[in-house]
Amino acid sequence: MNSSMMGTPLLISSLIQHAANVHGTVEVVSALGGGKVHRYSYAQAHSRSRRLAAALTALGVEAGDRVATLAWSGYRHFETYYAVTGMGAVCHTVNPKLFVEQVRYTMQHAEDAVVLVDADFVSLLEQVAPSCPAIRHLIFMGARGDMPQTTLPNLLCYEDLLANADDNFEWPALDEDAAAYLSYTSGTTGNPKGVLYSHRSTILHTYSMALPDSMNLSGASVIAPVIQLFHVNAFGLPCAAPLTGAKLVFPGAALDPASLFALFESERVTMTAAVPTLWQQFLLYMQKDELRPSTLKHIVIGGSACSPALIKSYQEGYGIQIRHVWGMTETSPLCVTNSFREKHAAWSAEDRYALQGKQGRPLFGVQMKIIDADGNTLPNDGRACGELVVRGPWICREYYKGTTPALTPDGWFITGDVVSIDADGYMQITDRSKDVIKTGGEWISSIQLENIALSHNSVAEAAVIAIPHPKWDERPLLVVVARPGEQVDRDVLLAHFRGKVANWWIPDDVVSVDNLPYTATGKVEKKRLREQFKDHQPSGR
Ligand code: AMP
Repeated sequence: MNSSMMGTPLLISSLIQHAANVHGTVEVVSALGGGKVHRYSYAQAHSRSRRLAAALTALGVEAGDRVATLAWSGYRHFETYYAVTGMGAVCHTVNPKLFVEQVRYTMQHAEDAVVLVDADFVSLLEQVAPSCPAIRHLIFMGARGDMPQTTLPNLLCYEDLLANADDNFEWPALDEDAAAYLSYTSGTTGNPKGVLYSHRSTILHTYSMALPDSMNLSGASVIAPVIQLFHVNAFGLPCAAPLTGAKLVFPGAALDPASLFALFESERVTMTAAVPTLWQQFLLYMQKDELRPSTLKHIVIGGSACSPALIKSYQEGYGIQIRHVWGMTETSPLCVTNSFREKHAAWSAEDRYALQGKQGRPLFGVQMKIIDADGNTLPNDGRACGELVVRGPWICREYYKGTTPALTPDGWFITGDVVSIDADGYMQITDRSKDVIKTGGEWISSIQLENIALSHNSVAEAAVIAIPHPKWDERPLLVVVARPGEQVDRDVLLAHFRGKVANWWIPDDVVSVDNLPYTATGKVEKKRLREQFKDHQPSGR
């Protein structure tokens, strides 16, 4: 029997339309550098998105065409994000921090028909565009007076296109299962792989991530997505902000702690999100200059593990709550967020910090479980460790152009993360499966060891990697960056592990470095570290 309900499709254009109708005067602010900002309303963002959609239609862009962006987060990127998806084309947010060969690869693979580029990435586009034969139009995301000197042929001007565009564009009724965004994995092993999010998957993800136990967003929030639009759609915040009516503040290219701090203060930002290293640097900056944010209350951290020590520093030093989240490019990205249950109010502060160090529990819409090497389901007892598998309406079932991701025979997506899940449903990552340290047939969790290292006051950044061992196959090596003004003492730091883990877990040695290598999406490049230290001989071995 059919229901009595309207079959209104779940479309991304409805988000910006809703924001214009219901939250029309709420601001979208974009930092332009040098303390200057651009400021307008959701109503104006909607109107300009429609004009851009009209302009792209006039250029011959059709439903299903891939339209790429090479840009920092800002109002023009936001408009493009809605114009392209709203008209039925696919918005490919290229990550300009990938190696140039990977940028070229993703744009060739996507067969991008149009590329919109901002001033900072014109020279990158000059390098890749000549080898992307599918490109039909190139658009500079700026005004006529700012057009760059470039070798790019027939570069169009964004503001001219908008000025001349038809003002009466109406969003078409699309199939909610049509592709809307194309995001590529960061390709640490092999070529990046494309994931196509649909309108439906995006809307469901957006509803779910706004909930109090997810990102806790509302019309009272002022959101600054420090995570860029080109990194899995900035965790979905550019969709959740119009849904809730939150004010949106884009930091643009200025991601140093001083610029961020100034922007958060001047725009009264209440909530922000990015990878852990950025918040570690932000903390050091605030400590050094004895600064206190006046409105910032929530930081969402994902992409890599966030240590309980960092969570505690923000909570106790500044009253800022850190919320740990977990996700992947293949999962839109949000699947798991960490928030308390009622019973946790009675827990000690230390137990609460330890809980917050876990990645969290699944959002409604996502199912997850752990399996062993034979595919058997393991218990949720907080001890059994196995590979995390997930399924749900915003999880990838195949990569763009047909390649199949790792799936179980019954269709669960195999994440490649080794985790445990406790009886309350909180998931904790032990390691990425390729980073697991196997010693004498047992596993050691590098993340747990890194969290202990980071709880020592001499350590700013930490990575634990496996180095070869003649008897035990592999042993853990701790690589650290000292806090400014501190020196790391090997023996003192190793002693800090005693009593916190079994003795055989304690790293064999400590190496101090000036910087850790990071990927384009803010993860420590452990492969590179393993290569660098493969011949390391721990003192005393
Ligand atoms: P990406 O697709 O580049 O976003 O990478 C996804 C991977 O990042 C996951 O499979 C995890 O290994 C890692 N990751 C994401 N969030 C977290 C987190 N909160 N803690 C630890 N690792 C994470």
